[in-house]
Amino acid sequence: MYEKIEKLLKQEYLCPHCESKLTLCNVPPVHVGDGLGWGSEYLYICLNNDCPLFVKGWANIENNYGHVGSYRYMRLPDSNESYNMMVAGKDAFTGSIIDLEEIKKQDKRYHERKEAVASLDTCVEEKNIQPALYVLLDKASNTENRKKAIKVLGELNDPACIDALRNHDFEDSHMEQDVNMTISGILSSNFLKECPFCAELIKVRALVCKHCQKELA
Ligand SMILES: [Zn+2]
Ligand SMILES: [Zn+2]
Repeated sequence: MYEKIEKLLKQEYLCPHCESKLTLCNVPPVHVGDGLGWGSEYLYICLNNDCPLFVKGWANIENNYGHVGSYRYMRLPDSNESYNMMVAGKDAFTGSIIDLEEIKKQDKRYHERKEAVASLDTCVEEKNIQPALYVLLDKASNTENRKKAIKVLGELNDPACIDALRNHDFEDSHMEQDVNMTISGILSSNFLKECPFCAELIKVRALVCKHCQKELA
């Protein structure tokens, strides 16, 4: 998948109107004008706002069609076909510029997420809190998987997960409640409590916090 994009990004085409390098973009879902597809996932587009075609296009469209818009020069990959494409404003397409690094990052996150979800079934046995934390703290995870992750963290019963949970903002109050209950369970079964002054984990029986030296009532 990257290879194709890498190959397309390597090809340099210049706009015949302004000599700017064309930018590789994702194709919009609908072909502006006739509702048909371009037959390609990608387009090369001149996004130069000083391009004469774009600058003059406003008046042209206003005069001919009576609405606001202009033209961008574009050409199809692996073809000599090029068009003057109608756009509604200067930001059209700027959101669909192909950024290979961003695509790779998204892809990596996708695979990490998938792997973490798959590991929920084995991480208790492996005594590994990381997959469960990953799934639970990842806002893109679905609720079902996040709930499963909370359960798994409870089973793992490892106080090492508490800081990460306390530092996370749970927008779902039910989930936050579940997490708080799980934390309480982990603390009590490990005979620990959180120091009310410094938040470090200390023994339930401690009268003085070993971290901040404050006296505990
Ligand atoms: Zn141009
Ligand atoms: Zn303390």
